[in-house]
Amino acid sequence: MTEQTTTPRVAIVTGGARGIGAATALRLAADGYAVAVLDLAESAGQETVDRITAAGGRALAVGADVSDAAQVQAAVERIAAELGAPVVLVNNAGVLRDNLLFKMSESDWDTVMDVHLKGAFLMTRAVQKYMVDAGFGRVVNMSSSSAQGNRGQVNYSAAKAGLQGFTKTLAIELGKFGVTANAVAPGFIATDMTAATAARIGMGFEEFMQAAATQIPVNRVGLPEDIANTVSFLAGEGAGFVSGQVIYVAGGPLD
Ligand code: NAP
Repeated sequence: MTEQTTTPRVAIVTGGARGIGAATALRLAADGYAVAVLDLAESAGQETVDRITAAGGRALAVGADVSDAAQVQAAVERIAAELGAPVVLVNNAGVLRDNLLFKMSESDWDTVMDVHLKGAFLMTRAVQKYMVDAGFGRVVNMSSSSAQGNRGQVNYSAAKAGLQGFTKTLAIELGKFGVTANAVAPGFIATDMTAATAARIGMGFEEFMQAAATQIPVNRVGLPEDIANTVSFLAGEGAGFVSGQVIYVAGGPLD
């Protein structure tokens, strides 16, 4: 009997309503997972769920703030009850609160740490027992090329670098239970997040993307599907010997 037939196949994608998270949820559904599309508002995830269902997949929209321990616990218990025990977790929910250090407020620092770092911690802590019980699990954390430093993002780059250390420690602690943990570090991906950055600095999104593409070796910006493809590999059974790694998906070298 192959591992595939015995492994429960339920995935959770946080921030799954839009952008990279939505593309990842759709891709994991196409790969055969039942997918919980977790986002701040349950209604926000419904469109992704409808697209999965229309394509013949199984999905559930769940509302929760990943930085709130009680909401996370309730959401994960609901997913386990309604879809089944989750064995894939993609910690993708994210926000930006960009500013230069001297103008950055304490709340901009805290918000970014809470959503990216504490959110990944709370979600992974809540989900790990299902993975350990199954003897199989895949955690994929969404880092960023900004982990290597980016002007105006002292909060975000610290959180995204922190996720890399978090990932490596998960790999060390959970490996013996059949659970791998990896980080994907996207470069410039065309989503609402990068569109908001263009708006903030007063540039049109097309112009902003063209300028970004000139700095990227493959000469284009990334698409959410570029990240979804990489998550799909890491979530798969075949990636069981890949753990604790950071994969830059940025159209060219960063590391
Ligand atoms: P996006 O389009 O802004 O989507 C982010 C999603 O996360 C939204 O649906 C948002 O919900 C949700 N979210 C925010 N805070 C949340 C919370 N506390 N609890 C639950 N959900 C929450 O962003 P994206 O560009 O797809 O980025 C996805 C991930 O990739 C993020 O971690 C981001 O940092 C990372 N990343 C993106 C890029 C890029 O170029 N786009 C590059 C590197 C890394 P609301 O709509 O309600 O706010």
